[in-house]
Amino acid sequence: MSQRPAVAVIGAGFSGLLTALHLAAAPDGPTVRLIERSGAFGRGAAYATANPDHLLNVRVANMSAYPDDPDHFTRWLAGREGWSAHGGFVTRGVYGDYLQDLLRRALESAPAGRLLLEQDEAVEVRRAGEGWRVRLALGREIEADAVVLALGVLAPAPPAAAGADLLASPRYIGDPWDPKARLDGAASDVLLIGSGLTMIDAAISLWRPGRRFWAISRRGLVPRPHAPTAGAAVPMRTAGSPRELFAAVRAASDGGRWREAVDALRPHVQGIWLGWSLAERRQFLRHVRPWWDVHRHRLAPSVARRIGLMMRGRELVVRAGELTGLALTQGGVEATWRPRGGRVARRLGVSAVVNCSGFLGDLEQARDPLLARLLASGLIRPDPCRLGAEVDVGSRLVGAGGQAQAGLYAVGPLTRGAFWEITSAPDIRSQAAGAAQSILSTLRRARAA
Ligand SMILES: Cc1cc2nc3c(=O)[nH]c(=O)nc-3n(C[C@H](O)[C@H](O)[C@H](O)COP(=O)(O)OP(=O)(O)OC[C@H]3O[C@@H](n4cnc5c(N)ncnc54)[C@H](O)[C@@H]3O)c2cc1C
Repeated sequence: MSQRPAVAVIGAGFSGLLTALHLAAAPDGPTVRLIERSGAFGRGAAYATANPDHLLNVRVANMSAYPDDPDHFTRWLAGREGWSAHGGFVTRGVYGDYLQDLLRRALESAPAGRLLLEQDEAVEVRRAGEGWRVRLALGREIEADAVVLALGVLAPAPPAAAGADLLASPRYIGDPWDPKARLDGAASDVLLIGSGLTMIDAAISLWRPGRRFWAISRRGLVPRPHAPTAGAAVPMRTAGSPRELFAAVRAASDGGRWREAVDALRPHVQGIWLGWSLAERRQFLRHVRPWWDVHRHRLAPSVARRIGLMMRGRELVVRAGELTGLALTQGGVEATWRPRGGRVARRLGVSAVVNCSGFLGDLEQARDPLLARLLASGLIRPDPCRLGAEVDVGSRLVGAGGQAQAGLYAVGPLTRGAFWEITSAPDIRSQAAGAAQSILSTLRRARAA
């Protein structure tokens, strides 16, 4: 009998887990090695939180792990006690339980040795003959016929305005998703750089009586709340330039139906992005993206109410402007910022700074040893919009020479440059299923040859 092929999946958040489950479920599938450095398999950055105020920002009805079984998550919830729905939204921790349950079941049902968990960090991937070799931080090497990078979101780049002493001090939290990140309990005023979903998460996690958060972003836009949408869908054009589509959503919004308009566009976003030229993609990122993000990625209603209360009580103050300086002082941090459209700089004294500016896209700025080695060896290259790594439509990574690499895939936010709309579960679950099918077909062809 010929030896079973092997696939290494690096990263066991939602993207890596789902890819591994599809691969392991195929009766003629490979041995799957799921590699995770954090030790928490299946949760990733989003679903490791135990904070009861951290809710999914997508309704449970849209959070099934399987694109061809949309009710899978709601059925799982129905068979389980100890959770409560906040108007159609559950905590991210409960969703992490769901993902871990899928993993547990797959481990129980997979034939011995077909699905293996490796708790370690992958630090290098290189070619080895027709296949690949993955080096782990503890020194072991794994051979694989195919490798999937499911590395998730990269912590934001440090603010240009900050000095090295601040970046090295406990007054600066550079990775807002690091579960070990803590603020000094006495910290009173806290600067949050950015005003999107990560800022909302940080304000909720770090809230204490008497603490005030200052959120500063270029436009000061805050994510809008989910709300029930009114009956019939809004007729929307699903092709056009960024300006044309923006104008179409604006027109629908004037009638008070922006949610319906954005939702009508939602299933077409990947296709629209794929159809745009590089210039159009850049135009979207420069002019439309901030607006799109706050309408597209919405808050669960109870989270929106809580944030509204914090804003009304001035526990959270959001400002539009540019940070021009961040200096460590004797008693804290002095931020200098210029309000949007203004000329006069303002100063703000805070106890600590949390970087909530969103995940990093530019791989060349990433401080990740695996990505640095992959870039240096030319096995991957940044996508032209600097949103992640370049992949082809089949999620195969493209090398420095412009060729898609046989057997080297990426799934999840790393592939935003190709697909844009690839950060939330409904999009990633389809991509994971597709990448797994593509790997299985390639392995079958190789066996038959
Ligand atoms: C705070 C937050 C909340 C979110 N909420 C929602 C939501 O409510 N609904 C929704 O649909 N989407 C949500 N998202 C979007 C989210 O990006 C996706 O749903 C999905 O969780 C992404 O999973 P991932 O596996 O690609 O990335 P991640 O969850 O980041 O997982 C990547 C994993 O790879 C591991 N890893 C990285 N490098 C290595 C290495 N070299 N070796 C070994 N392991 C490695 C990391 O430890 C991590 O566990 C949220 C995202 C965040 C950050």
